Amino acid sequence: MFPIYKQLKLERKSIYFVIGVSVVFCSLSAGFSLVGTVLPDKIAMINPIEHGSLSIKEIGGHFIWGAVAALVTLRLRYILLGGLFAVLIDSDHLIGLLHTEGIPRMGHSITFAIIATIVLMLVFSKKDYRLGTIVGTSVLTHISYDIFDGSYGFPILTPFMDKIIQFPKIDWMVFEIAAIAIIGVSSFIITKKESVQKNTSTQ
Ligand SMILES: [Zn+2]
Repeated sequence: MFPIYKQLKLERKSIYFVIGVSVVFCSLSAGFSLVGTVLPDKIAMINPIEHGSLSIKEIGGHFIWGAVAALVTLRLRYILLGGLFAVLIDSDHLIGLLHTEGIPRMGHSITFAIIATIVLMLVFSKKDYRLGTIVGTSVLTHISYDIFDGSYGFPILTPFMDKIIQFPKIDWMVFEIAAIAIIGVSSFIITKKESVQKNTSTQ
């Protein structure tokens, strides 16, 4: 296994990777929210700026929740991505600027988590399972902070069921712990596999 300090250093290559992945993720979340404009249960959207969705507190909160869950990867690029994805899911609010009808918070759903995981792995690396895990769980860490901060309803099952599902405030812990557990278990398995591969290739 590599020494930890090596994993926590951010090389230029990693910076480009983090920026590239974040841009694609952000476009995906904004693009997926357009799907809501053709769904039967659409409603008038609220302007995100008037609504205060872009406050520093909310951005910081989402980043911390996402980055903390990704700490268990012990790799700086995935810790940063964990934070950035959790912030960028809210680009599904941008559709509110169009003054159209849609389903609010389309990115806050299982379907978005699955689509984003598949697309990002196909675009960047089919074998980067750490990336896949961080993308998929970012919806969990994002919703965790939203619940913690006071909003309880999300279209988790859209587009199959557009009903806004409500969660009690205490559930923020369930979402965050679930994310940490999934990232922790998968990181453990991935690191173990990598060290086995390394050992067999050096023999
Ligand atoms: Zn949100």
